[in-house]
Amino acid sequence: MLKGLNAIVTGSTSGIGLGIAHVLASKGTNLVITGFGDAAAIEAERVNLETKHNVKVVYSAADMSKPDEVKAMVELCVSSFGSIDILVNNAGIQFTADVQDFPDEKWHQVIAINLSGIFFAIKAALPHMQAKKFGRIINISSVHGLIGSTHKVAYVAAKHGVIGMSKVVALENAGSGITCNSICPGWVHTPLVQAQIEANAARDGISVEQATENLLIEKQPSKQFATPEQMGELAAFLASDAAAQMTGIALPVDGGWTAQ
Ligand code: NAD
Repeated sequence: MLKGLNAIVTGSTSGIGLGIAHVLASKGTNLVITGFGDAAAIEAERVNLETKHNVKVVYSAADMSKPDEVKAMVELCVSSFGSIDILVNNAGIQFTADVQDFPDEKWHQVIAINLSGIFFAIKAALPHMQAKKFGRIINISSVHGLIGSTHKVAYVAAKHGVIGMSKVVALENAGSGITCNSICPGWVHTPLVQAQIEANAARDGISVEQATENLLIEKQPSKQFATPEQMGELAAFLASDAAAQMTGIALPVDGGWTAQ
């Protein structure tokens, strides 16, 4: 179904992005993977994706906060594979502080990576998708694109912005073969969330296990983490023909968090 399509998954050296990369590759999609980390580990994962799924995988070191690098990332996909069919904007960071204490540079950094980087990637990819009359843009927003939480002002603003941006992209391209949707995960157990759990444990003087349980109990009624693979399967569905008429929507995968 997705065999022979060409995709970028940003932030695919870790967590949700890595899970999405594996699911898309398992369905025959060639990949540009991106993100930071140890160079040897990234190369090993690139080779692992290629050999495990028998697809082509190239790595881009693009920093999502740098528009020129984001544009080059899109062009790398087109020059390597001939097209960009699927763009998964997943790379993101978190920073927590009360609004009045939130450092200006952290505000700018979160907005640059979690919001503006997605705009620049979509802007660069759209002309290629419009020429081919096919494209699937999948933005990893968050439950925090739909509702707020304390201490996450930049993240919540950026994630709401992603959903708004997705609606405009969807409307401008409706009926053209290009769709643009957002996935809104609740808690997924990744390094990004582990850092928050460990900070909570230190703040409250409790074990990491207890802090993990508390994190789920506080927000996620299922009391279970969603998984990177579940995000990957949803992304694959949104990229499929079955989802051709789904555009401009935001889909929670959150164990009931936003049902409350
Ligand atoms: P993660 O920290 O495991 O992975 C983040 C990825 O983004 C890594 O590959 C990292 O190298 C990359 N990255 C960070 N800054 C970058 C930059 N400037 N340029 C390029 N790449 C960069 O985090 P995760 O939990 O897998 O999160 C992935 C996405 O899912 C994020 O957008 C996050 O906001 C969103 N999300 C996560 C959860 C969750 O519970 N984990 C919930 C909702 C939404």
